[in-house]
Amino acid sequence: MFENLSSKLNSAMRTLKGNGRITDVNVAATVKEIRRALMDADVNYKVAKEITDRIKEQALGQKILISVEPGQLLVKIVHEELTQLMGGQKQEINLKGDPSVVLIAGLQGSGKTTFSGKLAQYIKKGGRQVLLVACDIYRPAAIDQLKVLGEQVGVEVYAEPENKNAVSIAENALSYARKMGKKVVIVDTAGRLAVDEAMMNEIAAVKAAIKPTEILFVVDSMTGQDAVNTAKTFNDRLDFDGVVLTKLDGDSRGGAALSIRQVVEKPIKFISTGEKMEALDQFYPDRMANRILGMGDVLSLVERAQQAFDEDEAARLNKKIRQNNFSFEDFYAQLQQIKKMGNIKDLMGMVPGMGQAVKDVDISNDSFKPIEAIIQSMTLKERQNPDILNPSRKNRIAVGSGTSIQQVNNLLKQFEDMRKMMRMMNKVQDGKMKMPNMA
Ligand code: GDP
Repeated sequence: MFENLSSKLNSAMRTLKGNGRITDVNVAATVKEIRRALMDADVNYKVAKEITDRIKEQALGQKILISVEPGQLLVKIVHEELTQLMGGQKQEINLKGDPSVVLIAGLQGSGKTTFSGKLAQYIKKGGRQVLLVACDIYRPAAIDQLKVLGEQVGVEVYAEPENKNAVSIAENALSYARKMGKKVVIVDTAGRLAVDEAMMNEIAAVKAAIKPTEILFVVDSMTGQDAVNTAKTFNDRLDFDGVVLTKLDGDSRGGAALSIRQVVEKPIKFISTGEKMEALDQFYPDRMANRILGMGDVLSLVERAQQAFDEDEAARLNKKIRQNNFSFEDFYAQLQQIKKMGNIKDLMGMVPGMGQAVKDVDISNDSFKPIEAIIQSMTLKERQNPDILNPSRKNRIAVGSGTSIQQVNNLLKQFEDMRKMMRMMNKVQDGKMKMPNMA
């Protein structure tokens, strides 16, 4: 996400980097390029103009600091302005009330149902009992979709397939939630392909009936400027509390993220970067500005890891490593945890400096496939004790996994190297050995 904007902004600012001084002339040229980069990324014209005017004003108003290069100074100014543009501070969703009620609104296909599942998982991980409610009375498939997601994340789904009145379903769901002691109710509503009066009336009626503590508007960031217009229409009618931007993993140019806040004056609270239930992040304006400027986003990466890694599983693996017992089974389990964190390329994009580097590289989660196939073709005994792998076993595994003996040998070698490294780290930790380069 944002790769194009990042590279254009960086090249705009590079023109200043070689210059020893900030002057009217070079700032004007740079600012013009920044404005063009923003507009190419689908940022609303008015918003792009406002922000670049402020950047220019600030750049020219800066005292000349001997220790700071003009290029660096400009990066700082642009970073601050982007952060402000996207809302400054991170905004939490409001989960007050017992139960608290979250209403999810948006057009059909924007990612409402997927997000409802993700939010349910996210809140459940925070230790609260959640109920998901299917309020789409027009598409029976939408109820099934929510049920599948609910099962996946281990959250109960309330539905009344025969009831054609969204308001009464929502009210019944709320009574049910109270009876069952659920703490958070997430109501997924019906969307239409375009804004229409009947849909707006229906969701407004649901809002009036269940008085949500939080209304989140879900919007597909790939729809560019339309996203901003739809947000405005929904906000005029519903006065929502926050925005969820979805599909930021696609080739969205990112402009919606930069314009929505400014146009509707409501904060973006979450971003969604994939179809998997884990691909959800809280929205931090400053971290997003980091990402846009290619400064990476290590904090979001760490949070994603904390969410994805099961602590018991981590403790179990740690113990096995400490006992020099790490097997292919454990390796396989680790791979699955990494994959749960989401798309590898997106994850790498969060590492400072990597975003630009991996922009055109083709890395996908499929890269793990041959490794997984090889491990799956091993017997339990072989996974636990790879030393027994003689040539005929290796051959069987290569055939079974659709790989070559060479690929099997490579994996075995890498695995052995990994185990050697683990044994060495154990000795270092136990004080039996020093790190080689410290000796
Ligand atoms: P709804 O009609 O608003 O409930 O939308 P859905 O939740 O059914 O999503 C529509 C499609 O977009 C589905 O195929 C989802 O898997 C997909 N989708 C949702 N969120 C994301 C996302 O963040 N990234 C990508 N790549 N796909 C998404």
